[in-house]
Amino acid sequence: MPSKPAPTDDEADPRTVAELSEFALIDELTKGRGQGAGVLLGPGDDAALLTAADGRVVASTDVLVESVHFRFDWSTPEQVGRKAAAVNLADLAAMGARPTALLLGIGCPATTRVAVLRELTAGLWREAQLVGAGLAGGDVVTAGQLVITVTALGDLGGHAPVTRTGARPGDVLAVCGRLGWAAAGLAVLGRGFRSPVAVVNAQRWPEPPYGAGPRAAEQGATSMIDVSDGLLADLGHLASASGVSIDVQTARVVIPQRLAEVGSALGADPMRWILTGGEDHCLAATFPEPSAVPEDWTLIGSVGRGAGVTVDGEAYAGPGGWEHWR
Ligand code: ADP
Ligand code: MG
Repeated sequence: MPSKPAPTDDEADPRTVAELSEFALIDELTKGRGQGAGVLLGPGDDAALLTAADGRVVASTDVLVESVHFRFDWSTPEQVGRKAAAVNLADLAAMGARPTALLLGIGCPATTRVAVLRELTAGLWREAQLVGAGLAGGDVVTAGQLVITVTALGDLGGHAPVTRTGARPGDVLAVCGRLGWAAAGLAVLGRGFRSPVAVVNAQRWPEPPYGAGPRAAEQGATSMIDVSDGLLADLGHLASASGVSIDVQTARVVIPQRLAEVGSALGADPMRWILTGGEDHCLAATFPEPSAVPEDWTLIGSVGRGAGVTVDGEAYAGPGGWEHWR
């Protein structure tokens, strides 16, 4: 159960969702917003209508529950909305797809402020617009606590999807985007600090390298995944789906200056954040040879025969990534 009501910046709008009709609420959340190019009909009818240029549609859903996946004492409603969109958009990128539209389901207590949902939806819209997509439809229902489900739809633009099953012995492993930043932010917040703001914000919402997914697909990536649970944990999914082993070479892994600083301030090992920290939603992919690795990616390892994930040729000691139901 949420410990206290969600905060909102909008003191001028004290209305709760119980004071609005469902139609008026949906209007509050969607009015005046643009849609992506592939959306023929957005919110307002029985369903949305989209083109599917490629003939195939890539679809992904995530459910986020207050107190489990986000906390309003750490994040604003706007940041929660951004994060809810980002985790889904990163899943599409990891298939090599470009997003076309999002759908948003909201379950919330009757006492929820309209302004909270408006700010949350604005955050979702802001993130979607980074990739030229919009919010094409959704649903609002009463629930005991705030729950958000986001569905993202995407297009492959004629390319083959990049799944988790295509890694082959002899491939190289590369990553694109931030690793360890959200974990560092969590460590900072967990100690009761609010700075450095760069790592704290990385915990509040990820900045996945959306365009890098489709570009990797075009360059022949053999397998790809977005890092949500932690690099080693997610490479474990890749390795087992592909029936290969993967080795990460730490000498190739760049430790950003900022993570090194936070690590020494907290007495923590930044390499552990990078290897096991989740929620940054960077992309990890395998390529058939080093020359196929796009410029903005970093080659950090290799694919071999066998099974499992190793670090510098050995099993990694210590706790791995986040696992649900642990
Ligand atoms: P139905 O009763 O047929 O499920 P709704 O009244 O729930 O329809 O929704 C009416 C329209 O408003 C639909 O087009 C739906 O996609 C849209 N909609 C509902 N909730 C949201 C939301 N949270 N965000 C965007 N669009 C929404
Ligand atoms: Mg409905």
